[in-house]
Amino acid sequence: MPELPEVERAAALARKVAVGRTITSVNVRHRSQRRGLPAKTARSLVGDRVLAVQRRGKAQRFTLASGRELQVHFRMTGDWMIPESGRLPRTVRAMITFDDGGRLALDDPRALSVLSLCGPGEGDDRMGPDAMDPALTARRLGAALASRRIGIKAALLDQSIVAGIGNIYASESLWRARIDPRIPANRLSVARLGTLVRAIRATLSAAMSQQRYYSRDRAESEAGRFAVYDREGKPCRRCRSRIKRITQAGRSTYFCSGCQN
Ligand SMILES: [Zn+2]
Repeated sequence: MPELPEVERAAALARKVAVGRTITSVNVRHRSQRRGLPAKTARSLVGDRVLAVQRRGKAQRFTLASGRELQVHFRMTGDWMIPESGRLPRTVRAMITFDDGGRLALDDPRALSVLSLCGPGEGDDRMGPDAMDPALTARRLGAALASRRIGIKAALLDQSIVAGIGNIYASESLWRARIDPRIPANRLSVARLGTLVRAIRATLSAAMSQQRYYSRDRAESEAGRFAVYDREGKPCRRCRSRIKRITQAGRSTYFCSGCQN
């Protein structure tokens, strides 16, 4: 599943193609995406200009000159691609064409991505601060976690607490911060939360710089770049103890019981 670094790489591509350009056509090719963006709504985008493409958590927002916002969420397998001329791959679920001839295609093998158009101020705002946003401080995180007794790993996946962290980088960030993923979220001191916030940023920054070198498919096969994720039974890169896998809130958590406590 694309997490913050992957979505940021995709949003950077969308910015390059779309910002400052006027939309000349929107072709939604799969019924799943037509649910959020029916043909009539898609047609209403023609003639509108893209002012900005922003990412918050794993969601992207295209701000339009009309004041509306096109929201895009990749869910499991979505990504942007620039199609070559000729026939589009079958996995392209929607395509936006711009006045300079540029094309931006939503490539999504499982077709679970969600597209929607919101009027000014109508956007979904249940999301917490973005994991890379300086507004995310140890105190703010502590306040959001104050009533949460679930394990800190499960709490980090809740997008209303912090936006952008998924299953991979939750485990990786906790390893970096030397925090046991099972600790109840409301029991961490402000000092440890500060360590965690720094670890989240360092983990995501490192992943974002790797994104420049790896395509999505290669990145998924490059499990070797992780410290704990998908490394059950392998030695910890810090203390050589064996990495463990447990299930929390239905998802796999990887951690080192030697140096995370
Ligand atoms: Zn260790």
